[in-house]
Amino acid sequence: MAVPQRRTSKTRRDKRRNHFRLEVPGMVKCEQCGELKLAHRVCKSCGSYKGREIVKA
Ligand SMILES: [Zn+2]
Repeated sequence: MAVPQRRTSKTRRDKRRNHFRLEVPGMVKCEQCGELKLAHRVCKSCGSYKGREIVKA
């Protein structure tokens, strides 16, 4: 049976697991209400984009 010659260091192991995180967080705070929203998208809680541009009341 194949056995690893050396123990994987903490750094190497953690570097590998770096990619396990959830993809595309892209979250920023809304300028209007301070809520977390997706970047480059209209805020879903207050309907604003880039300061103003209110889509829905
Ligand atoms: Zn907002």
